[in-house]
Amino acid sequence: MSTSIEIKNLSRKFGSFHALRNVTLSVTAGEFVTLLGPSGSGKSTVLKLLAGFDQPTSGEILLGGRSMLGVMPHLRNVGMVFQNYALFPHMTVFDNIAFPLRVRNEPTVKIEDKVASVLDLTRMNEYRHRYPSELSGGQQQRVALARAIVFDPKVLLMDEPLGALDRHLREQLKFEIKRIQRQFNMTVLFVTHDQDEALVMSDRVVVMREGAIEQEASPHEIYARPVTRFVADFLGESNILAGELHQGHFVFGGGKLNTPKRRSQADGPCWIMIRPEFIDIEQGEELAGLSGTLREAIYLGESTRYIVDCGGSTLIVKRQNRIPLGLEAGCRVCLRWDAKDSVVLTR
Ligand code: ATP
Repeated sequence: MSTSIEIKNLSRKFGSFHALRNVTLSVTAGEFVTLLGPSGSGKSTVLKLLAGFDQPTSGEILLGGRSMLGVMPHLRNVGMVFQNYALFPHMTVFDNIAFPLRVRNEPTVKIEDKVASVLDLTRMNEYRHRYPSELSGGQQQRVALARAIVFDPKVLLMDEPLGALDRHLREQLKFEIKRIQRQFNMTVLFVTHDQDEALVMSDRVVVMREGAIEQEASPHEIYARPVTRFVADFLGESNILAGELHQGHFVFGGGKLNTPKRRSQADGPCWIMIRPEFIDIEQGEELAGLSGTLREAIYLGESTRYIVDCGGSTLIVKRQNRIPLGLEAGCRVCLRWDAKDSVVLTR
């Protein structure tokens, strides 16, 4: 049975450096939550504190409602997978996976059964007698995953588990981890700095910056409605235009735009964010709206990327190639988008 994670006002200082500042986060039982952020933003520190490898400067950690302060790592019932696999090189695949059960003094019959079932689950049965040095990176990571779940941990923590693998293997394992997580309704806290991984795998994404949570939301919400420029930039490609709100319109060097009618916003400096795939582009001049000069059209197979100079700003537009637009560099283009697809940002 998986369980919930509750982190309350968690801080970790190293000397005078704040690696984590007052982080509060709840993960419900069976939820897959990803911590996403640049290097040094504090993601691994959260996992280490949860696993008990490090102690917080202040704050609380509860697993299944039980405080973990002072509880030794091996008594927390937490499975952990690292980027560098961390397998025991002198043990076979079977013995590596059996290890957590042996240290828990489980009976031999149970060990045989459990290891066999996770070997099946991770599709590693035929490699059970091999040593880690005789396995590929992807296979080693499957063994690490099998070892982390063999003792039915209450939560599974994964620190960039796909980081050392090539693109093809990453794709494959991404879906396998999801399949296993769903099958057993596991609570997973996953760390990555890869936005695609975060968007594809998670029920909820938590973006971290300088030891604090910048935004947490569903993958769709955080992609479509970032609350800061940092989040908009970190997740996917974005056009961010600097200008001013003036009587319900956004005014910038390239013209005047309608703004989304979501919330009342005071007049003043701000930014508008619009994703490249939400912009329509066609040849011509837009008298009432936004026009620019096409600097470059880059063919990408399924889509084309258009780079448009527009009143001192550069906008990126991405269109599917179902109907070729035949636009050439140097031509005048007009750009349109639905105001509700744009986001007003104030920081
Ligand atoms: P990455 O993606 O590179 O793994 P991260 O987001 O996981 O980064 P953390 O490993 O949590 O980042 O580190 C957060 C900050 O705390 C970093 O600036 C790091 O240098 C610092 N830090 C971590 N551990 C220690 C330590 N033992 N002593 C001093 N500083 C530390």
